[in-house]
Amino acid sequence: MTKTEATIGIIGGDGIGPEVTAQSRRILEWFAVHRGLKVNLIDAPYGATAYERFGTMLPDETRKLLHSAKAILFGSLGGPEYETIPVADRRLGSLLAVRSDLDLFANLRPVKSSPALHEVSSLKNRVLEGVDLVIVRELTGGIYFGQPRGVETLPNGEKRGVNTHSYTSSQIRRVAREALKLAAMRRGLLCSVDKGNVMEAGELWRAEVQSVRDAEFPEVTLTHMLADNCAMQLVRAPAQFDVIVTDNLFGDVLSDCAAMITGSLGMLPSASLGPRKPDGSRAALYEPIHGSAPDIAGRGIANPLGSILSVAMMLRLSFDAPEEATQLEAAVTRALEAGARTGDIAIDGELRIGTAAMGDQVLRQLEQG
Ligand code: NAD
Repeated sequence: MTKTEATIGIIGGDGIGPEVTAQSRRILEWFAVHRGLKVNLIDAPYGATAYERFGTMLPDETRKLLHSAKAILFGSLGGPEYETIPVADRRLGSLLAVRSDLDLFANLRPVKSSPALHEVSSLKNRVLEGVDLVIVRELTGGIYFGQPRGVETLPNGEKRGVNTHSYTSSQIRRVAREALKLAAMRRGLLCSVDKGNVMEAGELWRAEVQSVRDAEFPEVTLTHMLADNCAMQLVRAPAQFDVIVTDNLFGDVLSDCAAMITGSLGMLPSASLGPRKPDGSRAALYEPIHGSAPDIAGRGIANPLGSILSVAMMLRLSFDAPEEATQLEAAVTRALEAGARTGDIAIDGELRIGTAAMGDQVLRQLEQG
């Protein structure tokens, strides 16, 4: 655990982001008071409300905080308000720009089935038994960033939308190394996912991942799978996976699909990590994988557990506090076992509680644990 006080940037963003982040903030405060976590929590504006107040989605103070904080707890971005923000301003302040700016290339998305939520999942109990996997999504390359991009008008007046999927060897090798390292610390299984059958960039992806494994991680069993098959395998037999490594687009889609293993998109946490600096530290942003959920924003009913479990990832990865991380994960499990349910993880007849009440339940379990 860090001995000196470290800054955590708290950036709620848009929609349900501030609602769920407020609960994770309470969890961090609890660890500060009860477990001696030395942190200075600094809140900062970002997104549509920041644009309304400051004329920019990402004010300077927020940008500085992103670079100076030891870790960032982020909520979500997006919503109908963006239709009135000029495209150039949207691009400048986008989450993609932030990820790129901080070079957050490795996005870790753990997916663990919780027996207390088996009935909520759209999958059968026998399929969910023992599922514990991590999707490592490359986050700063691929089709979301490639050039050229845009919409052009052709000589015949027809429009054409263009995006470019491209990866360099070094972009692939560094995320592969991250995933192989993780697999080596877990069950030793890595599945690399691509579309090398129809995409040259996918062929390169496969070759580079294999080459890093052969040279540096011979103890890890590496398999390769096509992305379409992986989507099917994630709902057919997800327990076969330990660590999955894949590109930005496939990782985005496959992890939303995998969320149903837990019963709801609102359950999944994530960590986005940059390269290690000479002093061993790295930029780190923690966020639930869901978006701003405009359909339920402002009603106090969003599930904060994805955000709260992101705090557990922060404790483990940025604060070297594995015991506290495990304590928090156990408190979430016990809250679920005790029947705490927001609407997204409730089945017919179960009592539904709001976002803050779910925060209360986790805090109560922490107190009792
Ligand atoms: P979404 O993840 O916001 O919502 C999808 C569905 O899941 C909705 O029905 C929503 O109500 C539900 N849901 C999501 N999180 C929940 C939670 N914590 N508790 C209960 N229910 C929850 O995806 P979307 O609707 O496709 O996108 C909405 C906006 O969010 C878009 O503008 C999109 O660009 C943005 N987005 C942002 C991020 C991010 O900030 N990292 C990620 C994905 C989407």
